[in-house]
Amino acid sequence: MRRKEKEAAEVTKDVKEVTNEGEKAVEHGETSSAEASATNGAQNGDLQVEPMELPPFEIITGDRIDPFVFKFQFKNVEYSSGRNKTILCYLVDRGNTMDGLLRGFLEDEHAGTHAEEAFFTQCLPHCDPATKCTVTWYVSSSPCSACTAKIAEVLKSRKNIKLSIFAARLFEWEEEEIQAGLKALHAAGCKLRVMKPLDFSYTWDTFVESDDQPLNLWEDCKENYEFYHEKLADILE
Ligand SMILES: [Zn+2]
Repeated sequence: MRRKEKEAAEVTKDVKEVTNEGEKAVEHGETSSAEASATNGAQNGDLQVEPMELPPFEIITGDRIDPFVFKFQFKNVEYSSGRNKTILCYLVDRGNTMDGLLRGFLEDEHAGTHAEEAFFTQCLPHCDPATKCTVTWYVSSSPCSACTAKIAEVLKSRKNIKLSIFAARLFEWEEEEIQAGLKALHAAGCKLRVMKPLDFSYTWDTFVESDDQPLNLWEDCKENYEFYHEKLADILE
């Protein structure tokens, strides 16, 4: 909250500068969204409606995954028995210093809305088409065929979004439907990669409640990566 209020105050100051020094208006011309949030900030200040100010992604951002859950869900074993959910860690860079980098994670039970779809509805519901938006996902498994179709649609209709997906495991990669979905996603401009041992360490440091303990990679991590990497290369070639 405090940070928001401070930003709003700074924006208000900028807007005042524009008013006072007419010549600088051009420089500040691109802050129309900033002016809008300054107006919102003032309104919210009057009305004291604090919780409504936060979009959903800010609630998720800052949450960290339980280390035991991470080690189980992200383990890149060949057969993923018992892992009936997807955990999706995300980084969103809108190249805008005011918004900064968004970080967080989503998880689903496969019965409900999948994490991939929830990301676009909950974390990135609005994204200014004029703003380049670089999104990186680290997912415990690659998307199902329904999700690959939905993601491809989003990428086609929102050209400002660049998406890279790093997956610990390939979900049902032997299925033709899945392979077709991954190809369509690739064709839609999505970068698809299998997580390397280094990616697991990075994800652990970035998204897990690790208490500064390093991740001890499991014995066959590299071998499993190589296995999935080869499968993905065959599918996408
Ligand atoms: Zn799905």
